[in-house]
Amino acid sequence: MPPPRTREKALRHRLAELRGPEVEAKALDARALAALAANPGCRRRAILDGAGVDKAVLADALGSPSVFGQSQFAFVRGNAFEAKVKADGGTELLRLAHEKLDRGAEPPAGARVPDLTAQGPRGRTARTELALREAAEAPGAWTLLDHPMLALDVAGSPAFLEPDAVVVHPDGSWTVVEIKSFPMLDGAADPAKVGAAARQSAVYVLALEQVAARLDSAPRVRHRILLVCPKDFSNLPTASAVDVRRQRAVTARQLERLTRIEEIADALPEGTCFSPKLPAERLTEAVESVPATYAPECLSACELAFHCRDRARAQDVVTRLGRPVRAELGGLTTIGEVLAAARGEAGDPDDPAVAALRRAAALRAEALGTAAPEVAPCR
Ligand code: SF4
Repeated sequence: MPPPRTREKALRHRLAELRGPEVEAKALDARALAALAANPGCRRRAILDGAGVDKAVLADALGSPSVFGQSQFAFVRGNAFEAKVKADGGTELLRLAHEKLDRGAEPPAGARVPDLTAQGPRGRTARTELALREAAEAPGAWTLLDHPMLALDVAGSPAFLEPDAVVVHPDGSWTVVEIKSFPMLDGAADPAKVGAAARQSAVYVLALEQVAARLDSAPRVRHRILLVCPKDFSNLPTASAVDVRRQRAVTARQLERLTRIEEIADALPEGTCFSPKLPAERLTEAVESVPATYAPECLSACELAFHCRDRARAQDVVTRLGRPVRAELGGLTTIGEVLAAARGEAGDPDDPAVAALRRAAALRAEALGTAAPEVAPCR
C-alpha cells in the first residue's frame, strides 16, 4: 500500500478530477457536515461534498434547482448583528459568556483577542491552533478567538470549519460561540432554529476536541455553547447556554459511519465528472452512477433533494416514504412489491411485514365495504 501522503495526494487529484477542470472546490461548512451526518448512508452526498462540488450549482445544471440559500437582506442583517456583538474587542460577547456560562470567574476585562490572519485554510488552522496553545499555556485570563479555523477529519478528508468565535475561559476551558440573527423572544428562540444551531455547534465542538487532544494540557471543551441572538424585536444582543451533548454524540457516531470517500471514488466509472459545464445528460449519468438513499428529510437538508426525489419516484423505491416506514417494510424495497404483498399476489405470508400489510388491506376493504383489497399506489 502507498504511504499515507502519496495516497492523500492521489485522492486530492482524483477529487479535483471529479469536480471538473478549473472548478473551485466548495468548502464544507458545519451546517453541511451536520446535514451530511444526518444521512450517513448516502454515498452520493458523501462524494459530492468530499470533492467540494457546489451542489446548488449542480442542481441547477441538472434542471432541478434547490430552494436553499439565505436572502441578501438576511445575510447583510446577520453580518451587521455579528459586528455589533463583537465590537470593542468583543466586550459584550465576553460579558454574555461570563454571565451565562462562568459567573464564578473573574469578569472579562482586558481580554486577549489574538490576530488569526494567515494564508489559506491550512495556514489559518495552524494559526488558530497556535493561539489556542498559547491561551492554554497562560491560563487566568479571558481570550476571544474571532472566526478561528478548525480542521475536522471527515471520511478521510479534512474539512475546514469556521465558527463565529471561540472563547477561552480563565480556567483554560473552551466554548463555541454561535451568533444568529433570529430573535430570542422573552429569553426563548424558535426551537427548530435553536436545534439547527446546536447541530452546527456540535460539529465545531468535535473539531475543537481534536485540537485539545493534541495539547499537553488537554483543555476541556465545554459541551454547553453560547448562542447569541437579537433580544426581542431589537438588535441588542442576548444569549443563552445551549447543551449540545446529544447532538455531539449523534454527529460523532454518524461521521464515523460515513463510508470513506476514497472507497466511493474508487467505485466510480473511469471519466466520471460532476462539472456543471457538462451537458445535462452527461451530468445526470455521472450523478446517477453514485448510489443515493433519498428520504423526505433530504428536502430540508440537501440541495439535490428535488433531483433525487424525482429519481426515487421513477424507481418506485420505498425509501421515499421516509425512514420509519422503510424500517417497517423489511425486505420489501419497491412500492410495487408492497402493493403486491398487500393484495396477496406476492410475498411470504410468514413475513411479519407482509402479514401486517395484508391485515391492513383487509381492514381497509372492510371499512370501504369492498369485497377484495384494493390498494392504490401513493403518489
Ligand atoms: S438529496 Fe440525494 S444526494 Fe442529497 S442526501 Fe438525499 S439522497 Fe443524498
